[in-house]
Amino acid sequence: MYHGFLGTEDKYSLDVRMYNQHKMSEKYNCDKTGIFLSDGMFAHFARRGMGAFSSLGSRIATMFSGLAYVYVCLKALGGAFGIGYVTQYVAAITSVSGGLTQTLSTLGQLKANTPFLEMSLEYLDISHSMYKGSLTVEKRLDRDYEIEFRDVSFKYPGSDNYALRHVNVKFRVGERLAVVGENGSGKTTFILLLCRLYDPTEGEILLNGINITKYNYREYLDVFSVVFQDFKLPAFKLGEVVASSMTYDKDKATDCLVKTGFGDRLKELPSGLETTLYTEVDQNGVNVSGGEAQKIALARALYKDSPFIVLDEPTAALDPMAEAEIYSKFNDIVGDKTAIYISHRLSSCRFCDEIAVFDHGSIVQKGSHDELISETGKYSELWNAQAQYYTKEEQ
Ligand code: ADP
Repeated sequence: MYHGFLGTEDKYSLDVRMYNQHKMSEKYNCDKTGIFLSDGMFAHFARRGMGAFSSLGSRIATMFSGLAYVYVCLKALGGAFGIGYVTQYVAAITSVSGGLTQTLSTLGQLKANTPFLEMSLEYLDISHSMYKGSLTVEKRLDRDYEIEFRDVSFKYPGSDNYALRHVNVKFRVGERLAVVGENGSGKTTFILLLCRLYDPTEGEILLNGINITKYNYREYLDVFSVVFQDFKLPAFKLGEVVASSMTYDKDKATDCLVKTGFGDRLKELPSGLETTLYTEVDQNGVNVSGGEAQKIALARALYKDSPFIVLDEPTAALDPMAEAEIYSKFNDIVGDKTAIYISHRLSSCRFCDEIAVFDHGSIVQKGSHDELISETGKYSELWNAQAQYYTKEEQ
């Protein structure tokens, strides 16, 4: 199914064409005789039960109709009823036989589908082992929330390696913290734990001194606005997408979009905030570029107006001008929220108060840009590796 699906998805079409990838799918699409494929041994075997019921159904129906015709015609010939009744009786009998066939073939389908359903039911029955507390998260207008990672280590389920090791960090209210590091150093895992999509294997995460597992999960999530690296926007009206709600404050939604640099494009949209995003649902919808989608995702995070805003590579899809614009307005955008900014582009972290450098799952350095650049360590190593391509010309 996956190989068939590849052929119909337009987002794959360029790569498929460019790299001749259809040949990889061809085998699975054209040759169905492999042992597990639809014409293979197992498929034939699996069809037996369903086939037997279906064949039995057709046979009974045909025999029934044949007998019905013979019986009714003979009765008519014998003078039991007029010729006009023949059609009436035949129709009644064939409709009974049709119902009988349908019943038998449904039984066959039930037999064939039950094992699949059983798998789904077993999956749904898996119990959710994550502990969810009931403590209310205090609503504070002064946004005085403090989060602390206390000696947190984490292994992904089924993995033997630690993705995070002995992480200790405290977020000061209103602070802008940058999280930097090479690919695979643990930045995203750190955010997943912060948002409690996983619980730490060792150590604990505290919100205002209390373990986050003790809080009501929904209320805890409300503390964060996150723009994930692989965010997704649904094909709803733009205003609804920004507000994540069918009803929204138009001025606030517009203001958020203007702050993230989507203002000019908003003016061009045929129905403004009422314009549907993408064309899957509404033919008159508009398609937005990757950079524009990123601006909308940022606006959605602003609209949520949570005390913490987490941005995972928020400018990756933006052109340099749009990126510079976002940075210049960063303080205005973030306001009095505590901001956590993840990036592997160190130049984009300079405006943060504190930078935490991740390496192999641990925080190896912490400090401001000026402090870190003057030390020998991972930060200056990464900085110099990135800077050399910009400074060579000047040398
Ligand atoms: P970064 O965001 O800095 O690129 P990640 O937090 O994604 O790094 O990954 C940290 C480590 O955890 C890597 O070694 C990665 O291979 C591993 N990892 C990430 N996701 C999973 C997962 N779902 N299962 C197992 N290991 C994972």
